[in-house]
Amino acid sequence: MARIERDFSQRPAEEQQDFLTQTWCNDCMEADLGMTAPQEFEQNGVVYIVGRCKRCGGEVTTELSEED
Ligand SMILES: [Zn+2]
Repeated sequence: MARIERDFSQRPAEEQQDFLTQTWCNDCMEADLGMTAPQEFEQNGVVYIVGRCKRCGGEVTTELSEED
């Protein structure tokens, strides 16, 4: 269950923008509210980008498959 830190800021600006705007918030139950303070890491072969919902400040997680 080791968590490997990754550098979100290494991604191309356009990609960062997509990840920051294409979100799903479990608290708001709404998509694309946006997130702030993104942190990227990898766990069990899955890449996660975790940030704060722009509306409610709750935790927002985006999962990515490495194949992309
Ligand atoms: Zn929210």
